Amino acid sequence: MKLFNLTDKVALITGGNGGIGFAMAKAIGEAGATVVIAGRNEEKNKKSIEELNSLSVKCKSLIVDVVNENSCNQLIEDVVQTYGKLNILINNAGTNIRKRPEEYELKEWTSIIDTNLISTFTCSKAAFKYFKNINSGKIINIGSMHSLFGAPLGSAYSASKGGVVQLTKSLANTWAKDNIQVNAVLPGYIDTTLTRQARVDIPKLQKRVEERTPAGRWGDPDDLGGIAVFLSSDASNYVTGTAIPVDGGYSING
Ligand code: NDP
Repeated sequence: MKLFNLTDKVALITGGNGGIGFAMAKAIGEAGATVVIAGRNEEKNKKSIEELNSLSVKCKSLIVDVVNENSCNQLIEDVVQTYGKLNILINNAGTNIRKRPEEYELKEWTSIIDTNLISTFTCSKAAFKYFKNINSGKIINIGSMHSLFGAPLGSAYSASKGGVVQLTKSLANTWAKDNIQVNAVLPGYIDTTLTRQARVDIPKLQKRVEERTPAGRWGDPDDLGGIAVFLSSDASNYVTGTAIPVDGGYSING
């Protein structure tokens, strides 16, 4: 369908070699976009590129450490140098350290804010001038259920993901006149490396999520593909500043 066609679009996905980022890269690539996946780990990048190639997705990987502003700026420059433009930015790189609030070292706490929230600002700012040049752009920021709820063992994560939603609204408001749509996606509990560790840290989590989620199951990373295509495409040109749960109903179950 033409509304969802991403042919000729260039998309950059931070954390594109991980669970949710990779699933989004696949979906956007299969809708026609050229995708650039960026992460710190060269091996993971390489493996993801092999898989994307096997699906005939036009793709490239780049190394970035999103906590470093120069690295983010360089990443965006490299994409534009290579492809002549950038159309879609997915701020997906993220991390967590689970502890009670009083147990965090400050540098652990700020490392989570830096990775999840500050990087979203840094990459969006770096992308803005290229979006403005072509009078269009799509930014998708990855929030969480903890954009809505406070995690007892995740004060930094909750603060960062709450911040992502407010930052999304602010950027959407400011850049709407430049035809840039900025939206957040709030994944529910999705089976990835990040949550595999969570299930080690919190043994009852597996069952608790199954019981609370109306869909009756954990999410698969591929469950995030459709929203990524929608928010990247012309189908969402009048949608901006939203925070859309993709959670099997988890957040509406009281
Ligand atoms: P993964 O651990 O599978 O992926 C995390 C990705 O982030 C990896 O690709 C990793 O790449 C990248 N990354 C982490 N730190 C940095 C950094 N400093 N610089 C560059 N890249 C970095 O986890 P998920 O797929 O689950 O997480 C993706 C996003 O989804 C995160 O923002 C997470 O908070 C969010 N989310 C996940 C949920 C879930 O249930 N899984 C629920 C709600 C939100 P590399 O190691 O190469 O640096």
